[in-house]
Amino acid sequence: MAKKIAIAIDGPAGAGKSTIARRLAAELGYCYVDTGAIYRTVAYFLDLLGISPKDADGVARYLDELTVGITYDEEGKQHMIMNGMDVTEDIRTQEISQKASLVSANPLVREMLLDLQRDMAKEYNVIMDGRDIGTVVLPRANMKIFLTASPEVRAKRRTAELEAKGQTANYEKVLKEIQQRDYQDSHRAIAPLKQAKDAVKVDTSELDIDGVVAAIRKIVEGKIGQ
Ligand code: C5P
Repeated sequence: MAKKIAIAIDGPAGAGKSTIARRLAAELGYCYVDTGAIYRTVAYFLDLLGISPKDADGVARYLDELTVGITYDEEGKQHMIMNGMDVTEDIRTQEISQKASLVSANPLVREMLLDLQRDMAKEYNVIMDGRDIGTVVLPRANMKIFLTASPEVRAKRRTAELEAKGQTANYEKVLKEIQQRDYQDSHRAIAPLKQAKDAVKVDTSELDIDGVVAAIRKIVEGKIGQ
């Protein structure tokens, strides 16, 4: 099997990772893998069981009973399958965002999800987004991008996104949650959010998405020769 191409996009919540990765994947014909959705699925599973994401013993006890699957529909949209059930929409709440951030600090959880992510990159050309893709999951990715934006800009985007989905969203509250998640994600002991040494940093605070996609595509084409 020919070696696959992998592009890693890491960064904090709301930096524009998923929008940009999805667009780039469609333009390049790659498979977009949203790894945050995988952690969200674990958080959702534990939530249904009433297990706190901070309860390491409880998490260890039930993790064996969880099977996480990733499928794609005909439009290329990623679906998360939890024990055979499609939970793609259920995992997109602010509550699950926070719980995913807490549970993702658990070493057992990270270990369990590593192969699932690496297997995707073995099988397909991927654009994978997350927090530790360039540093831990795919350290030999062909290209690494670290996307950032100010917390205020990210909170504004997230608020608009939630409102567009018909959810009530308060900017101040979203900003607080983003700052809390940034702190948790970058201060955990295992695979914290950080820029890989060989990643290109792109600050999207002042850039529009079209501009960012075009800029990254140019770098990708220059580097990978598409
Ligand atoms: O990207 P998203 O906001 O959906 O991710 C939810 C949470 O999952 C993050 O706050 C982070 O704690 C965790 N995560 C992670 N490693 C990844 C992707 C997400 O720890 N590669």
